[in-house]
Formats: sequence, structure tokens, C-alpha cells
Amino acid sequence: MSLRWRGNFVGGRFVAPAGGTPLVSEDPGDLAHPVGTVREIPSAADAAVAAAARAQPSWAAASVARRRRVLKQFQRALRRRQSALTTLIAREVGKPAWEAAREADRFIARVDETITQAWPRIRPFEVAVAAGVRGRCRYQPHGVLAILGPFNFPAHIPGSQFLPGLLAGNTVVFKPSEYTPFVGQFLAECAAEAGFPAGVFNVVVGGGTVGARLVQHPAVRAVLFTGSSATGRRIQQALWRQPAKCLALEMGGKNAALVLDDADVGLAAREAAIGAFSMAGQRCNATSRIMLHRRHARRFLDVFLGLVDRLRIGYPLAPDTFMGPLIGRAAVEKYRAALADARRERYEPLRPGGPARVPGYRGHYVRPSVHLCERPGPTPPIRPHAPYRLEEIFGPDVAIYLVRSLDEAIALNHETPYGLVTSVFTRRRSTFDAVARRVDTGLINWNRGTIFSSGLLPFGGTKQSGNQQPAGLFAIHQCVYPVAILEDCRPPSARERPPGFPAA
Ligand code: NAD
Repeated sequence: MSLRWRGNFVGGRFVAPAGGTPLVSEDPGDLAHPVGTVREIPSAADAAVAAAARAQPSWAAASVARRRRVLKQFQRALRRRQSALTTLIAREVGKPAWEAAREADRFIARVDETITQAWPRIRPFEVAVAAGVRGRCRYQPHGVLAILGPFNFPAHIPGSQFLPGLLAGNTVVFKPSEYTPFVGQFLAECAAEAGFPAGVFNVVVGGGTVGARLVQHPAVRAVLFTGSSATGRRIQQALWRQPAKCLALEMGGKNAALVLDDADVGLAAREAAIGAFSMAGQRCNATSRIMLHRRHARRFLDVFLGLVDRLRIGYPLAPDTFMGPLIGRAAVEKYRAALADARRERYEPLRPGGPARVPGYRGHYVRPSVHLCERPGPTPPIRPHAPYRLEEIFGPDVAIYLVRSLDEAIALNHETPYGLVTSVFTRRRSTFDAVARRVDTGLINWNRGTIFSSGLLPFGGTKQSGNQQPAGLFAIHQCVYPVAILEDCRPPSARERPPGFPAA
């Protein structure tokens, strides 16, 4: 069934003026039945920022208890419609129902985590600077936040930014991915039900044109972006004339599982298969590479490929689907290009990938691919642009490197421009601790796959994976700035007089 677009959510109302460019939201698993059509209206970004700017002073002046209450009402509205949200995520993203349900769950739980775990992280504090001099630090909301979401977690990821942003007294303009405008509309409907004051939470749909206009708006004081490194860099360049604007980037990954010589091989194979192929590899923290100790090669590949061959590809809402489609035609092209590059590199296709058929559905389905990155003869140097080896593919592919030593595994781990997640499979805690100290990624897991994460910890990476950890528990730090207040309570006569400065 096709959904009706009600308009952008601006100043507490749905507004759908005539005009704009139609934007079809596909169901990538069932192209015959699109989710619906919205209209992209770039000037709506300006209207939403203006509404957010008008609403911000009184929202910031409201008590924290009041802001908390509204967030709890928002949570109740989400809970009432949780199964509809799950279905919508599954349809718009092509995410299997089990993963869509997990996202809806985590997003709804995020309200409580924001209130109980994130909020205390910006508790004001006092310090005795000197006898009679008191220092205080308090956290001030930026003002208007622009939040740009990726397609793959259309509710949970932007939620982990706008929930702390709102609690801290900011107002928000949220732009969902062009692939998921109806999840954006759904969140706006829940905000309307929750009784957010007009203009506190706004949603504008569209793609890069709307996004670019939004982030560059002078009244936007902070941008929290989650998406590809290429788009993040583009935003950074567009904002070079606005250095005071806070820009927090949460970007791509090329994550690795290091399977060391003492690893539990069965466990590592299972975790790596889930990490590489859940959501068809469309996760920032997907397992893209496995550095496998040579002594485990045969057994690991037996177990791993056995699992890969039995993964069930299907329509996202079918109950036994493990892996759904890719998000769109461009994603399929990118995946194909990566496979072609692997062939150019003469990597051995243990599973070649390619299109998959799902009876009864026309969609962007592909099969998992696995490459053994071994070449006969001396290893030629890596080409400066080796997309398969160095770039994020965002599809169901994993590259396996056979290594002889930990040093080799770590060197390979660091050869890409990304730094999001490393998983380390070893039976010894001391080995894990030693490896963790050498690894240049923002997240490091022990004996769990790269997609294992917790909202009770920071989330984000180094290098081209991001700059400020604007997700997970620490997102709240990107929604405020600290203000230092000094109070000198000493009488004027007790204050220091610099040498050469005249007495009063
Ligand atoms: P994307 O970069 O294509 O789009 C992200 C958002 O930016 C969308 O809302 C898009 O409309 C907007 N946008 C595009 N061009 C813009 C511009 N010029 N100015 C402003 N906004 C613009 O990313 P995507 O395909 O939606 O998401 C997948 C990417 O996101 C992957 O690279 C993935 O690794 C990354 N991601 C990272 C995390 C993380 O936490 N590190 C989480 C999820 C996804």
C-alpha cells in the first residue's frame, strides 16, 4: 500500500505547497509497490530553520523536567505505533524485519538512555580556582541543530542525536535520507502527538540539494551528519567560511576482524558472517575484511563459507529472511564495480556474488561475495585508488587476507583511510589488551563481530570515519558547548595588582 505524503513538518504543522520535485520512495525489495511519493522543496529548509530559530529561546528556557516530559510523551507515541515503525523501516530500507524490529526497539529505548545516561554527562560543575574565586562550568545548547540522517538506520541514528539535542535545549531540523522520507514523516507525526511546542522539531525531506541548503543556513549553529565520507567531506568544504559552526561527522568504515593464532575459529567465523552480511553489508560497522591467521585458513573457510551458502536472502518482511536487498540501483552498481575491481586485482572469488533472485519480488537483490586476497608471485604495490581493497563498498562482500603474524594483521588493518571498528578474536585477554592499544579505530571488540555496539558507550571512528563521535553516548557533547564562569568574591583590596599597574 502506498503512503500519503502529508508535507514537510515545519513550525508544528505539515506543509505541502504546490510545486517541488517529486521523489519516489521505493521499496527496494519490491519495486512494483513503492512506499509513496514526496516532494522535494528546497526552500522548506529555510522555513524550517526560521521556525526552529523562533522556538529555540523558549524551549531552552523551559525546565529540564518539562523537556524530559515531552520526550517521554514522544516515546509513548512511538511505542503505540512500534509495529508500524518496524514495517516502515523494513519497507523503506529493505531491512529484514528482525533487524527493523531491533532498530525500532533501540530507538525507543534511546529516550531513557538519553535521560538517564547521556544527560548526566553534561552536568554543570564547580571548582575552587583560588581562595575566594569560584569557577563554574555549565553547558549551553547551540541553538538550531541540523541533523542529516543516513538511509540505513533512519530512526535510531538521527534519534541518538536529536534526542540529546532536544533535551539539552536545542531545536532541531531533521532531514532524513532521500531513501527514507516516510520514516521522517512518521517521526514528525509522533512529535506532533507528543505535543512538542511548534518549531521545536521540524522535518524536511529531500536529497543533497536540501541537505546542502540546510547545513549552510546561517541560523544553523551545529550540524550533526551521519553518512558517507564523501558527503561528509563535501559538507566540510561547503562550511569552510563558517568556522564557528559545530560540524560533527559520523562517516563510513572498512572494518576488520583479526582472527589471531589462538582464536576460537568457529566463533570467529559465525561472528564474521553475521557482521559481513546482515543488512546486506550496508552498515558503517559491517565486517569488510578478515585478517586470518594462516594456521586457521582451512577450518575457518570451511565453517565461514558453509554459513555464507546457507544465508537466506528474501523479501524483508518474510519471516525467515536473513538478508534483504541493497537500497537502490546506484548501490547495486557500486557493488558490481567493486567486484570488477577485485577481479582486476586477481583476487580469488571464493563466492563470486552477483544478482540474486527472490521468487515473487523484483528488487535490488544480490548474493554475498567472498574474496581471498592472495595473489601468486610477489605482491605488487597497492594502487593509490584501489576501491575494492581500500574503499567502503557498502554491500555484502568480505575480503579475506591470510596473515602470518599480528604485525601483518595490524598493518593491513591500518592501510585504509577509515578507522571505525576492529574485532579481535583471541582466547587471551592479555593479547586482546595489547592489540587494542595498537589499533587506530574508535571501536574495538573482543570476540564479537564488528557490528556489536552499545548505546551506553561512545560510538564513532578516527580518520575518514568521523571527527567528534556524534553518536552513541557522547552525541550529547556535540549538542552543547561549555561555558566557563568565574566569580571573584574577594574584596577589591585583596586582588592582585600587576607590577607597574597604578594603585587605585
Ligand atoms: P549519504 O552520504 O549518501 O547521505 C547521508 C545524508 O546526507 C542524506 O540525508 C543525504 O541526503 C545527505 N546529503 C547528501 N549530499 C549532501 C550535501 N551535499 N550536503 C548536505 N547533505 C547531503 O549516506 P547514505 O548512503 O545515506 O548512508 C550510508 C553511509 O553512511 C555509509 O558510508 C555508512 O558507513 C555511513 N554511516 C555511518 C554511520 C556511523 O555511525 N559512522 C552510521 C550509519 C551510516
